[in-house]
Amino acid sequence: MQHMTAPHDPALASPAPPIPSRAYGVYIGRFEPPHQAHLLVMLEALERVQTLIVVIGSARSARTTKNPWTAHERQDVIEAMLAEAGADPQRLRFVHVRDFLYDEAHWLADVRAGVEAHTGGSRDVALVGHIKDESSYYLRSFPDWEFLPTHVVSPLNATDVRRAYFEDRLSDVRGMVPPAVHAFLEGFQRTPEYAELQAEFLALRSAVAPAPATRLTVGAVVSGAGQLLAVRRAERPGRGLLTLPGDEPAQAIFDAPGRSQRGRIVAYVFHFALGEDALTAQPAGNAAAWLPLSEALEHPEGWFEDEAEIVAHFLAKV
Ligand code: NAD
Repeated sequence: MQHMTAPHDPALASPAPPIPSRAYGVYIGRFEPPHQAHLLVMLEALERVQTLIVVIGSARSARTTKNPWTAHERQDVIEAMLAEAGADPQRLRFVHVRDFLYDEAHWLADVRAGVEAHTGGSRDVALVGHIKDESSYYLRSFPDWEFLPTHVVSPLNATDVRRAYFEDRLSDVRGMVPPAVHAFLEGFQRTPEYAELQAEFLALRSAVAPAPATRLTVGAVVSGAGQLLAVRRAERPGRGLLTLPGDEPAQAIFDAPGRSQRGRIVAYVFHFALGEDALTAQPAGNAAAWLPLSEALEHPEGWFEDEAEIVAHFLAKV
């Protein structure tokens, strides 16, 4: 007898996908920008966990050629690429976490707090990722979350995507990122932010020797009466961002034996030249100004490199 199937019965035509065994998965990354391998890792994770929590790192830092996009922009484009790949948006959550380069415990606590805000403290949490190199060390920092290594094997990395992008090789970028990311990158290429970042990329490429030597610089955190002395950078990289007075000041040691009646006191003095129009109302190109401390600490993305962290190191506790 001929065996008949019922082609119109969806239950028989396509068996229901297996229910993922774990409640929550956490996937941490910088996603600058998200590429094909990131997408495949996320899709694989969604086969293994019911809800995927994407932790977007390096949030609230100034745009640089290494971190060109805000965490909100990266979240939007991750949502778009996952929607395009057919993922259910109801099964996604996002957490944005700032870097704390000198305070690993703070970073770990922020990741945990962000994740717990979505899991309600559930212990059924797995960590998804790939121990790529030394930069993936943090995947070992959450021993209570079972580690689910991804099966995705790909040589892709976001550094190559950014290099192709800032070299205007969009056709190379197309091969490395999902279409939704490519569309986002094409749109961003028409913004003034792209123009500035590309100029910065070119300036850094011509300025930095193949193996940049270690340089020692000096910065001054000068504060008083709720104000902080700050300068706005006039040069690339980071043109327009706030910075501390300093860098490579003139310095001298004053040590004449009889210079003080208090004893043998050696004075090590730095001269910070603050530019032509020093002390304007607002910090502007190389000129310094007193900035309210609240403003200085509330907008870390306005500072050059890790200087918001440096300011917080000295002033957050006052
Ligand atoms: P990433 O975007 O390079 O990678 C994210 C994940 O995807 C990683 O698990 C990585 O191994 C995986 N992946 C990348 N390319 C892959 C490929 N081709 N195939 C398979 N898997 C691939 O991000 P990242 O740099 O690992 O992100 C870590 C984030 O956490 C950063 O923002 C970092 O600054 C932050 N962080 C901060 C601190 C701190 O501030 N103290 C400490 C640790 C990490």
